[in-house]
Parts: sequence; C-alpha cells; structure tokens
Amino acid sequence: MKALQYPSIGAAPTVVTVPDPRPGPGQVLLKVLAAGACHSDVAVMSFTEDQLGFPLPLTLGHEGVGRVEALGEGATGLSVGEHVAVYGPWGCGVCRMCAQGRENYCLRAGELHIFPPGLGAPGAMAEYLIVDDARHCVPIGDLDPVTTAPLTDAGLTPYHAIKLSLDKLVAGSTTVVIGAGGLGHVGIQLLRAMTATRVVALDIAEKKLDLALSVGAHEAFLSDEDAAGKIMELTGGEGAEVVLDFVGAPPTTALAGRCVGIAGDVTVVGIAGGALSVGFGTLPYETTVRSPYWGSRAELAEVLEFARQGTLSIHVERYSLDEAPHAYQRLHDGEVQGRAVVVP
Ligand code: NAD
Ligand code: ZN
Ligand code: ZN
Repeated sequence: MKALQYPSIGAAPTVVTVPDPRPGPGQVLLKVLAAGACHSDVAVMSFTEDQLGFPLPLTLGHEGVGRVEALGEGATGLSVGEHVAVYGPWGCGVCRMCAQGRENYCLRAGELHIFPPGLGAPGAMAEYLIVDDARHCVPIGDLDPVTTAPLTDAGLTPYHAIKLSLDKLVAGSTTVVIGAGGLGHVGIQLLRAMTATRVVALDIAEKKLDLALSVGAHEAFLSDEDAAGKIMELTGGEGAEVVLDFVGAPPTTALAGRCVGIAGDVTVVGIAGGALSVGFGTLPYETTVRSPYWGSRAELAEVLEFARQGTLSIHVERYSLDEAPHAYQRLHDGEVQGRAVVVP
C-alpha cells in the first residue's frame, strides 16, 4: 500500500510503498477514509533523535477515520464495514488513568513502548491503518469522514482544554484564543457551543482572523505588541478569565501571562517551546497554568456528539495521499485555513 512517511531526521515526508498490514490478535484493520495533518507532525519532523524517542521511518497521521476492513482474532465490538474515528492517545487500558478512559495520561505507556498512531506507531496517512484495540475505534455512523477526522485531535484537544476551565466561562467572562489554526478554529466553536464566554481570537495572519470571526469569535486581532493592551481595554483592565494558547511559543506564552486576570487560567496547548513561570508576583494572584495533552476517550465521544448535532463547521483543505507532502509544506508555512485532510 501507499503511505506517507517521515523517512529520517531532517528529511521531507515522502510517499512510499510498504507491505499491506494484517491485523494481529485483538487488532482492527481500517481502510483509511481521511487523515488530518496536525502541526505536531511538523514539530516532530524538527526534533533531534533524542527528542523523537522512537525509530524512523514513521508513517505520519494521528487523526484518522476509517472503515473497518477486518478484525484480528478475538477483536470484538465492531462490524466489518462500519465507519469509525480513531482515538489516538493509546494507553495500556489497565492502569488507574486508563481505567477512567484517560488513556492520554496512561501511566505505563512509556514503559510498555505504546505510541499513538502517527506518533511512534504507523499512522493514518496510508491506505490502511492498524488500530491496536477495538476500544480505540469510536463508531461515527454517517458523519462525513473528512470533517470528522480533525475532531479526533483538533476537536478533542481544545474540548478537553475548555472543560478544564468550564466553571470560569460564565456570561460576562472573556476567553482569549491564541492561534486560529486547526485546533483554534474548532476551539472557538466549542467555546461558543459550550459556554457564554466572550471569545477574542489572536493570530499573526489576517486570513486566520477572518476565519476566527466567521466561526464565532466575537473579536479578532493581530497577536502583536499591542494585543495585551487591547485585551486589558476590552476587559476594563481586569484581564481574561481564560487564555487558551494554541501556539505555545515563547512570545505567545508571555502574551498569555499579560492577558490573564486574577484567578484566571492559562492553558498552554501548543508545543513550540514556550513556558510561563509561576511564582508570587510573576502573574496575577491565583493564576493557574496548565499544559494538557489530547483528551479522554469519553471526551472524544462527546465531541462527536457535537458534530452529530450539527454545531461544528470544520474547515478543511482536501489532499490526495500523493499531495500530502505539499499539504505539510503549506502547514509548515502557515498557509492552511482550518485543517488539511488527506483522503487516500
Ligand atoms: P496550525 O498550524 O493549524 O495553527 C497554528 C496557528 O497559530 C496558525 O493560524 C498560525 O498563524 C498561528 N500562529 C503562529 N504563531 C503565532 C503567534 N505568535 N501568535 C498568534 N498566532 C500564531 O497548528 P495546529 O495543528 O492547530 O496546532 C497548534 C499547536 O498545538 C501546535 O503547537 C501543535 O503541535 C499543538 N498541539 C498540541 C496538542 C496537545 O495535546 N497539547 C495536540 C495537538 C496539537
Ligand atoms: Zn495533533
Ligand atoms: Zn494505562
């Protein structure tokens, strides 16, 4: 089959032919219907060997939707032909966190060398995908595979981040969303659907600000040296209750610290090396700073429910598998509006 692989450190992703995978005991073979391209893939392709922590080549793609093609021996609960979304942060299924469905925080994944598809295990940017266990396949019914694939990460990750701050997102509150890309444009919609907060989006590209406004942000402006001042002005000098940083670079985490108000939350979702130091006097009193990872299995089911209700409008650019390297180039260059989705 054809697969998009990151072949070696520093090399460009390439379409190659690899053996067709066969499902082992308990595994599920999916015919891939759609696979989203996440900025984390771009980050992974900039890592050193030490940072990477798994061998190359790697078949990319950790946002996947597929049709069940075959079940390995003993795999149950799914029918051949069914459409499923893949829950990506695989865990052991047994530890204290996994028992709660919080496999994203599996306590034994490292020790057991369990990696998510596309982030260590072979990913969804291929004609077929092996899912290690039926519990990681969530049936999607007749949802559109192309707009559903991004929900498995670009939907699930902001959803989880928002849930952590729900009690603060009351009417009259302000949430700053930094970065209106794949995650951000879904995060804005989830904030509007789940809460009464006022959403202010910041980005460095005008066309992303247009996207942010079109999907429900109340305000959108450039993420520059004036941004923190504008947030303070909008909030009568109080600062925002919640800042969601979907960039996570040094300038944006610093900006988040200047936008948040007393007892507010700063949630750093982006993985671009930014950090915010917490200590008396460095931030407004009682600011909470967090860096969550992905979301739980139950939360993925909840996000898919939002999609079924028709509340989400996922903006996608479609690419064939052969065009996938170009999609990653556009993502790297900040050109993608919404999510780039590969349809093998
Ligand atoms: P994306 O490329 O689709 O979107 C990023 C957006 O940020 C773009 O619109 C870009 O214009 C904007 N941006 C860049 N620099 C900026 C700045 N200084 N100020 C404001 N906006 C800026 O990326 P994505 O796929 O949405 O991923 C966003 C980040 O989240 C990445 O760092 C990714 O690796 C990370 N991520 C983390 C998790 C997690 O579990 N923590 C999960 C998925 C993605
Ligand atoms: Zn991702
Ligand atoms: Zn576990």
